[in-house]
Amino acid sequence: MSKNYPELLPPNRILMGPGPSDIHPRVLDAIGKPTVGHLDPFYLSTMDQMQSMLRDLFQTKNEMTFAVSATGSAGMEATVVNLIEPGDAMLVCVNGVFGTRMADVATRAGADVTCIERPWGEIFEPQDLKEILAEKQPKVVGIVMAETSTGAWQPIEEISTLVHDAGAMLLVDAVTSLGGVPVEVDRWNIDAIYSGTQKCLSCPPGLAPVSFNERAIESVLTRKTKVQSWYLDVSMLASYWGDDRVYHHTAPINMSYALYEALRVIHEEGLTACFERHRLNHRALQAGLTAMGIEFTAQDGHQLPMLNAVRIPDGVDDGQIRGSLLSRFGIEIGGGLGEFKGKVWRIGLMGYASRDTNVLTLLAALDQLLAEQGCKFDRGIAIAEANRVYASSVTSAN
Ligand SMILES: *Cc1c(COP(=O)(O)O)cnc(C)c1O
Repeated sequence: MSKNYPELLPPNRILMGPGPSDIHPRVLDAIGKPTVGHLDPFYLSTMDQMQSMLRDLFQTKNEMTFAVSATGSAGMEATVVNLIEPGDAMLVCVNGVFGTRMADVATRAGADVTCIERPWGEIFEPQDLKEILAEKQPKVVGIVMAETSTGAWQPIEEISTLVHDAGAMLLVDAVTSLGGVPVEVDRWNIDAIYSGTQKCLSCPPGLAPVSFNERAIESVLTRKTKVQSWYLDVSMLASYWGDDRVYHHTAPINMSYALYEALRVIHEEGLTACFERHRLNHRALQAGLTAMGIEFTAQDGHQLPMLNAVRIPDGVDDGQIRGSLLSRFGIEIGGGLGEFKGKVWRIGLMGYASRDTNVLTLLAALDQLLAEQGCKFDRGIAIAEANRVYASSVTSAN
């Protein structure tokens, strides 16, 4: 072979976009550990402990809590295809890209889908669902808890009560919320939920944690038709993740090591401290950006700590700023999706990326780049305001 292919030398980036986010060093180390067989006693006990940590993180006792071998969208697909049979009515709440995707997945699974919509950046209030629930009597209602395209933080609990009063099951997208804000599966009576590893879990993309409660599993076991996807059929996956350990597919062993270690990192920090860290770094970033005159897009009082969607200031070149952030400062932030394309930046403070050093580095970089583009603001004020938030949090903690 005459051609020489270059050695793989990825640059070190600071990943502050909508995911993937920074990987915890312990998680990267875990991926390189020796691969064992997927039925090796060591691997089976690792799976058991991973399941137990996932239950803690989802705050559930659900037996059927495990990781689908694929990214967050496969978690979406897995929950939808198991709960839906062709012709079943499903209601999907759409206020951004991921609600739209859920409606598409449900349509492909043969559901009779009704979408209700709210403007991007806004959330659903319980009264928005009341009438349509009575009219459509859906089997499943799907909703996104953390809409990564807009930064809106959707409350779940009250809507869950309404959905169950109407006799439906509640399906929640927790891809960006899990690990960043509280997700209380049992207390909120969520029937099925899915997440992904590369948002707030400080882990590379590749696994989708999911959980089904007994009501959801009962509905899978009493289906008239087979689950349309062989790979994602939860009744078959149950025999692999349950006590029987029946071979279904070869689990991605080293990716499971990564998730195991990522969950251990969260477990050691503690959920309360982890959520508090996400909130503090968000407050510091928000103080800094606001001081530069930059506005947030999410509805007041419903801003997610880990995904900050902000309006690009007038006259600023989106591509140039994001390009320079990457090439000169090694920082990745996200552009807008869909109707926010070219208008919005999405700044992630997810998992291991949610650190004071990242917040201060990004604000320093934006201070320089926005000044170069002629924006008017007090140079340095963003960094000072962020530092003020950090300083006051230290005082109040003492
Ligand atoms: C990222 C994301 C997904 C899709 O996950 P992938 O890992 O990209 O497949 C789904 N829903 C939300 C809210 C997300 O942020």
